[in-house]
Amino acid sequence: MDPTGKDELIVQGISASQGIAYGQVFVFIQSDVEVPNYHVDPDKRINEVSRFEKALVTTRQQISKIKGEVEKNLGPEEALIFDAHLLVLEDQALIGETIREFETTGRNIETCFNQISARYIQAFSEIDDEYLRERAGDIRDVAQRVLQNLLGQAENSLGRLAEQRIIVANDISPSDSANIDRAAALALVTDSGSRTSHAVIMARSMKVPAVVGVRDLTTRVKNGDWAIVDGYDGVVILNPSEATLFRYGRIQERKKTFETRLLQANEQPAVTLDGVAVTLLANIERVEEVKAVKDFRAEGVGLYRTEYLFLNSARIPTEQEQFVAYKAVVEGVAPFPVIIRSLDLGGDKPMTGNSHLFPKEDNPFMGFRAIRFCLVHTDIFKDQLRAILLASAFGKVRLMYPMISGSEELAKANAVLDECKAELKARGQAFDEQLEVGAMIEIPSAAATADLLARDCAFFSIGTNDLIQYLLAIDRVNDRIAHLYEPTHPAVIRTLKHIVDEAHRHQVPVSVCGEMAGDPVFAPLLLGLGVDSLSMSPAWLPSVKYLIRAMTMKDARELADQALTMSSPKEIYAKCDAFYRARVTVE
Ligand code: PEP
Ligand code: MG
Repeated sequence: MDPTGKDELIVQGISASQGIAYGQVFVFIQSDVEVPNYHVDPDKRINEVSRFEKALVTTRQQISKIKGEVEKNLGPEEALIFDAHLLVLEDQALIGETIREFETTGRNIETCFNQISARYIQAFSEIDDEYLRERAGDIRDVAQRVLQNLLGQAENSLGRLAEQRIIVANDISPSDSANIDRAAALALVTDSGSRTSHAVIMARSMKVPAVVGVRDLTTRVKNGDWAIVDGYDGVVILNPSEATLFRYGRIQERKKTFETRLLQANEQPAVTLDGVAVTLLANIERVEEVKAVKDFRAEGVGLYRTEYLFLNSARIPTEQEQFVAYKAVVEGVAPFPVIIRSLDLGGDKPMTGNSHLFPKEDNPFMGFRAIRFCLVHTDIFKDQLRAILLASAFGKVRLMYPMISGSEELAKANAVLDECKAELKARGQAFDEQLEVGAMIEIPSAAATADLLARDCAFFSIGTNDLIQYLLAIDRVNDRIAHLYEPTHPAVIRTLKHIVDEAHRHQVPVSVCGEMAGDPVFAPLLLGLGVDSLSMSPAWLPSVKYLIRAMTMKDARELADQALTMSSPKEIYAKCDAFYRARVTVE
């Protein structure tokens, strides 16, 4: 029993981000706003209108606050979208029609507002003008907020936790995760998901412990319950007893001491005991992470996931808005290079506000995402490419395309890039004429044709998160099969070796930017296979660097050679784990 008299309950999930947290639970259930439909008595109608006006004022205050924060953190350009949102709230036609509908029908104001805004969204999304079409997304976003406020659901937002809490959610979308109040999130626990879902990647970059795949935990906890989240072993303990708390307190102390050691070592260069220097890079999603890139001593950004600029926006950011963000990253990371990845929307990263661009699909991971989307919506693609080119005048920029399946697709993307270069020249705007272009190798067909791709690429970056899911046919966010997602499967190791060998035959350097690169158990295997650099969430750099400084490259090569002869993923994992444990001890 815990001090409050409830029974201790231990739930096993999947470890997704290391660390231990203890605190009270906040339950977050993701769902669309459900609008009740009822008749309002004539004597209550005055109240209904004032309820509506109050919700509009609250929404205005919320949006102005977010606008202020974005302006402060990311600059005025990025906050422009919120002006568009504020304008929706001032739209007299939308508001007037809602009230008229209410006066005529006597249905509750939520129903009337929902109907009228839906009509506007529909009308705008059918207009043959891109700018006006985008307004549909603005109205949708604002309408959801107004409805949440009318229904008193606004406090359910992850961006406004009143106190520090362990977030227990059925699922967290990338836009929800981008909204999480970093100061207030003690840990993240999700019913579904796997180690490579984007909410988890985000948790790791925030250094917040995370456990996923706990199935129906959200139905078993209540707001305010106490819990321990053990992100090392993937365990959640509800209502922990005094004895458990004591045990975890001791573990936490030991881990803290170890972390201090790691941070000290992180000040040193990433050089193996036999003198081989390894380039360690950072994966980032947002401009604000530039600080972490520097704090954790990365030698550049190996993966800038630009889609996060789009995910929380009700409309596609303009060329200028994107340029401002990219330039901020490039200047912030200088003199080190930044690899900017073109848009990888779709899959587990749908753009919420623009369902007309991203209709629901049965197999989103194998669907209309990333470069496939960009090569169809070339207007969106070109805005981004021009923004990247413009940013290249301010530091060392490289461009990388996601989800390239083969040479033809690469050639098509490069042809669009050439058009953008010509357009900028015509405008008289400067960019780096020598901009290096590379491909992510994350689809098996790209791996199989690495020799062909290498002819037209300045570099490769292996996206093991996707490569493993496609090679092993394991949906990376399906918790039922998460145990089959094995980075040490011989098919993965052989494919990595093939990619590296083919790339090196063409003098093309290879980086790994999937989650494998930031795991010190796998990093020696990757380096032993010949990978030239590793790119990871900034927070993981110290543990990887610590191991690099404690090993020889000769041993890493031997480890890789042995792994290539083995058949069991579990045995290969055990070998990698033993390699790690022999060189790093927590106590
Ligand atoms: C990957 O697939 O390994 C990768 C780095 O890209 P993302 O996780 O953004 O799909
Ligand atoms: Mg990927």
